[in-house]
Amino acid sequence: MMESATVGFLVVSVIAWVIVAVIFGLCASTIAERKYLNGGNYLLLAFLLGPLAIVVAGFMPARPRPAPTGMVSLECSVCNARQNVAKEKHWFSCWQCKQRTDVVAASR
Ligand SMILES: [Zn+2]
Repeated sequence: MMESATVGFLVVSVIAWVIVAVIFGLCASTIAERKYLNGGNYLLLAFLLGPLAIVVAGFMPARPRPAPTGMVSLECSVCNARQNVAKEKHWFSCWQCKQRTDVVAASR
């Protein structure tokens, strides 16, 4: 049987750890969401790594901005300009170099 002082110390330690993990988790998820990454994953990562989750989120490369609903974000095969193309289209004409590109080829 543990003494009540030991149990009290454990309870306070767990509560402090949860508060610290939530604070670091919110910081890490904010950084991640600004890079279009899944913020929930970084919130969970903070419970495992604590402040290191912020460092991991900081070093992760940003994803391209997601396309609006009904569109896909594709890159021109000639000039690498990123553009949003309607999902039902089979080809697009690049806004920058006017190159006609097949959607299947640009998705690779
Ligand atoms: Zn182009």
